[in-house]
Amino acid sequence: MKTANSKAALIEMLCAAGIKPTTHRLSVLEYISSCESHPTAEQVYQHLVHENPTLSRATVFNNLRLLSDKGLVNDINILPDSTRYDSAAFARHAHFMCRVCRRIFDISFDMSSIEMPQKFQCDNVNVFFKGICPHCAAKSSE
Ligand SMILES: [Zn+2]
Ligand SMILES: [Zn+2]
Repeated sequence: MKTANSKAALIEMLCAAGIKPTTHRLSVLEYISSCESHPTAEQVYQHLVHENPTLSRATVFNNLRLLSDKGLVNDINILPDSTRYDSAAFARHAHFMCRVCRRIFDISFDMSSIEMPQKFQCDNVNVFFKGICPHCAAKSSE
């Protein structure tokens, strides 16, 4: 469910949301926008600290919170103990979480027919399924 996001487009997204495009913010948004694995905040930090050893965990976590507050990234709370992220610029999709390997998969899902009752203003949609992925199902039947 990836969309090509140039650096310029990402800077524009930040400015449009009223966020100053600092280097750290941009690198957090850039990683989430290029990543299909639905990383946790810790995984985002681990990835970015490689390129930037002075980066602090708090900076990454705070920027993630800001980006999700402003609707630029989705926080996916399928598991109570770990929030995962993907880009809000991706086409809307549902998620499937495998109970065995705990990977999260993107599932095409038509949400066009979902309508909010009057006067409810929805700014985030999370649709998810849980079960066993094809890979783990094949393993368990070996
Ligand atoms: Zn699995
Ligand atoms: Zn996703």
